Amino acid sequence: MGIKKMPLYTKILLGMGLGLVWGIIAVWLGATAFSSMWIKPFGVIFLNLLKLIAIPLIFVSLVKGISSLSDISRLSSIGVKTLSIYIVTTVLAVSIGLIVVNIVNPGSFFPQEKRAELIHKYSTVVEEKKAEVKKVKDQSPLAIIVDMVPENVISAASDNRNMLQVILFAALFGVALALTKGTNTGVVINFFDGLNDVILKIIDIIMLFAPIGVFALLGSLIVDFAGESISSAGGLFVALGLYSLTVIIGLFFILLIVYPILIRIFGKMNPLFFLKGIFPAQLVAFSSSSSAATLPVTMEQVERELKVPKEICSFVLPVGSTVNMDGTSLYQAVAAVFIAQVFGIELSMTQQLTIVFTAVLASIGAAGVPGAGIIMLLIVLNSVGIPPEGLALILAVDRPLDMLRTVVNVTGDAMVSVFVARSEKLL
Ligand code: ASP
Repeated sequence: MGIKKMPLYTKILLGMGLGLVWGIIAVWLGATAFSSMWIKPFGVIFLNLLKLIAIPLIFVSLVKGISSLSDISRLSSIGVKTLSIYIVTTVLAVSIGLIVVNIVNPGSFFPQEKRAELIHKYSTVVEEKKAEVKKVKDQSPLAIIVDMVPENVISAASDNRNMLQVILFAALFGVALALTKGTNTGVVINFFDGLNDVILKIIDIIMLFAPIGVFALLGSLIVDFAGESISSAGGLFVALGLYSLTVIIGLFFILLIVYPILIRIFGKMNPLFFLKGIFPAQLVAFSSSSSAATLPVTMEQVERELKVPKEICSFVLPVGSTVNMDGTSLYQAVAAVFIAQVFGIELSMTQQLTIVFTAVLASIGAAGVPGAGIIMLLIVLNSVGIPPEGLALILAVDRPLDMLRTVVNVTGDAMVSVFVARSEKLL
């Protein structure tokens, strides 16, 4: 089969495989400087292109999606359903994490003499993360809602971290457009229809570059992190390996058992069809560690392959990319209990329930960018009195786990969009 005729996911897989091989060769030949200078930039370009299109895509597709709803009052039911399902699936993910980590008990294999050494080594990194999370902790509980309402739409759209603000403005715009249908706003509706086609075409063009982008991302990732992690994990292979394995077992359990069962029951969809449709987005999520950067691919796959109508996926997916993180919340539960185990802290039932509650909130608060989950983990640790310095124990292996949890985050969003579409009888 010629390269041109290959399905997208095969090309991306090929890019990933070659990236992996390149990373190993570059480390082996000592060509790391060459790799950073000449390979890494292509990965950055690919991610920038995805981020570049994210805000216009959210805005245009949400306006088009909402304004085409036949009955605008359905919007509140879609919103309530989406948020409720998001919370339920996140609680489920945290509970699975807690069960797995309590069974495997990875902390008991951690050599105690290494604890102080790691804490000392990473003290500055941990302090930086603490400073970032402090800003979040000192806010009023209503701050999330206040933060959603921008005072200036241009500045809201100028930063990809303000996704919820853009969603709010787009929703307002879409509702107003729907309410003024039949008056002289017809031209605006046509304009958004055309704009939507243009944006989808731009995504197609960006995706032509995806195999090269993931090649560069994975290749440079190995070069950047492999050496560093391997040297800092020296002597800790078993302990950190077991911790990583616990997170991985939990993530795969969700991905390959829980989601397929749920998608069959509530989405009435063949799980293989679902996984195949979402596969390219999973690959980009894995390579980029960012649900926000993957959003354009997720939206395209869910709409085109899974046939979820725009009025559903244009709302459910952008909200999900910042709010719904099943993989991150599972990881936070495992990491918190692992650190407690290493410190010899026995967690009571009430404390474990507190972890469920705070991990749900912390994953909602985490942005869809690399490494956001480990920063918000500090909130979980704090809630049950686990020393925040414990973060140092898991830093060395965070990046590969981030890649995997982002895959689960993105898949969870896609699954919920299928549920909502099914329950609204739109599938
Ligand atoms: N990288 C994750 C995401 O973008 C968030 C995290 O867990 O760090 O979904």
